[in-house]
Amino acid sequence: MIPTFLRRIGPRALSLLLAGLLAACGGGSKGDSGTPPPPPPGPVDYTPASPRLAKAPLIADLQAISAPDKGGRRMGEPGNATVRAMLAERFQSLGLQSFNGSFERPFTSGYGNGVNVVGYLTGTQHPDKAILLTAHFDHIGTKNGQVVCGADDNASGTAAVLAIAAYLKAHPPAHTVIFGLFDGEELGLLGAEAFAANLPAPWRLQDLVLVENLDMIAQGTQGRIFVGGTSVSGTANTQSFLKATVTGAFSASKVKVVPDYERYNNQSDQGPFKDRGVPFLFFCVADDDPYYHTVNDTFDRIPQDFYWAVVEGALETLLRLDAQAALPTLIERPAARDIAPFAVRWKVHPWSRRAPEKE
Ligand SMILES: [Zn+2]
Repeated sequence: MIPTFLRRIGPRALSLLLAGLLAACGGGSKGDSGTPPPPPPGPVDYTPASPRLAKAPLIADLQAISAPDKGGRRMGEPGNATVRAMLAERFQSLGLQSFNGSFERPFTSGYGNGVNVVGYLTGTQHPDKAILLTAHFDHIGTKNGQVVCGADDNASGTAAVLAIAAYLKAHPPAHTVIFGLFDGEELGLLGAEAFAANLPAPWRLQDLVLVENLDMIAQGTQGRIFVGGTSVSGTANTQSFLKATVTGAFSASKVKVVPDYERYNNQSDQGPFKDRGVPFLFFCVADDDPYYHTVNDTFDRIPQDFYWAVVEGALETLLRLDAQAALPTLIERPAARDIAPFAVRWKVHPWSRRAPEKE
């Protein structure tokens, strides 16, 4: 369903309109010419001082997920299925737990069918409260016959979730951590919506303390990572707690963290959870990625140490949250009456011949 004013115009006009209005966590139509990025602010060594995560496997996963032979990972296409199988296998080999006996959770939608990859680790202290760590693994496929690799968007978040899952398997979290690698984000947050609307039993939305979503966290040409949710999630107390947590988590990092960046909260997978009142943190380089949705979003252009440092910060954030025994009371929910419904949930890619047609 889309807003009435959008329904009155045809799909083509709508696509053109939305191309300007909607930007999945990024700069919309800019960057399509392949313009090179502005020069970096200076020669900064982003290498984390005392990293918890090894760089090599993180980078290897990023490279494998965004390889051209994955065809741009569009939902429903073979390259997407190849990556999905690889992710499910990894969850298996890491020793994560699965819901209902499988890491793969198929879903149907009016825009096509997809498969989320979901696993979890049971918390040692608070097993009935969960932090949901998410990233979408799908991308947009091809553009003018060329594969759009989606290294930043969002092989970066996907590989980060794999690395963090491996770390947490070895260092068991106090709260349950659910790892959600979602499909169909690029077609309108489809996998996240399907998961939020149909949580695996016995989980309920109120058992999800927080969603931490990683979408485009590598191509930080300005040396900074934006974080959404810190000024809109829950109550004022929640917001100051989240902001302090994120800021503290990056205090030793060369990456500059910019909280209160609420511009694209409806344009990535936290959206369906936000819409249901679940507090969230959304990590994204946003408009700093000049290659957003272009054929230039490739592995070879990723600043590896910056990316590594961001993943460290995302892990540190999660660990600081997990270390709070009173986490569910530190992160409060807005009253039901204050939960605003989603205005526009889906995105349209104007170049696609298979753009959503149903409303
Ligand atoms: Zn995208």
